[in-house]
Amino acid sequence: MLDPFNRPINYLRISVTDRCNLRCAYCMPAGGVESISHDEILRYEEIVEVVKVAATMGIDKVRITGGEPLVRKGIVDLVRALASIPEIRDLSMTTNGQLLESFAFPLAEAGLHRINISLDAIDPQEYTRITRGGEVAPVFRGIEKAIEAGLQPIKINCVITRSSAETNARQVQEYARKMDIKIRFIRQMNLADGCFSIVEGGDGGDCSRCNRLRLTSNGYIKPCLFNDISYSVRNPGAENAITQAVSHKPACGTVNHVNTFSNIGG
Ligand code: SF4
Repeated sequence: MLDPFNRPINYLRISVTDRCNLRCAYCMPAGGVESISHDEILRYEEIVEVVKVAATMGIDKVRITGGEPLVRKGIVDLVRALASIPEIRDLSMTTNGQLLESFAFPLAEAGLHRINISLDAIDPQEYTRITRGGEVAPVFRGIEKAIEAGLQPIKINCVITRSSAETNARQVQEYARKMDIKIRFIRQMNLADGCFSIVEGGDGGDCSRCNRLRLTSNGYIKPCLFNDISYSVRNPGAENAITQAVSHKPACGTVNHVNTFSNIGG
């Protein structure tokens, strides 16, 4: 699929839940956000149907995000179902790593190819401060388990305030070097005022080469993270929603007043 700017669109990011077991200061308010009601959240069969349709239209790369995808029951079964779709050549996940130690092998066995882990600090106090109460030790154990399970490549997503020269970022980079893991630095974004930049060490945020669509946890296809438009996969349906999203994909992001990071998965 080509959008109106001749960008090939082959990547679908799927937010499977807006719930999370952390409260990162740059992602949600301390008290969390009002969760989307269960009956609005896409069922796994619906997600698989959307991906099957998307695959016939040119999507061959899928990333599972959240909130935190590992808090949703049955997530391994969803991975297995998506991994069985022949056109999907790249199936990945982004997780905060808190539950990864027990999920790494089941995810790999279900067919997950690779994984990104959010890690903004390795200093325990700093990690607890940024995540409002999380502990960093489970993330280290989860990364080691993911390496053992063969989920490769593993990448660390490190959110920075302004620069990768910040103390936390440099310490995470040193940890990644020791573990032989790739790292990407993501400058804090703000949907409402359209503040975003290109991911350091990645291709997110580079509108000129954007190849992605997003599926929100309550069933909307979004052509752009920094834009309000979206199309429901329930009505008028997946194919129409994807077609509309691609043909209305903006040249670049502006602002998004509709979503929060927790229900769109960054
Ligand atoms: S802001 Fe929109 S167009 Fe730009 S990279 Fe992000 S999703 Fe793509």
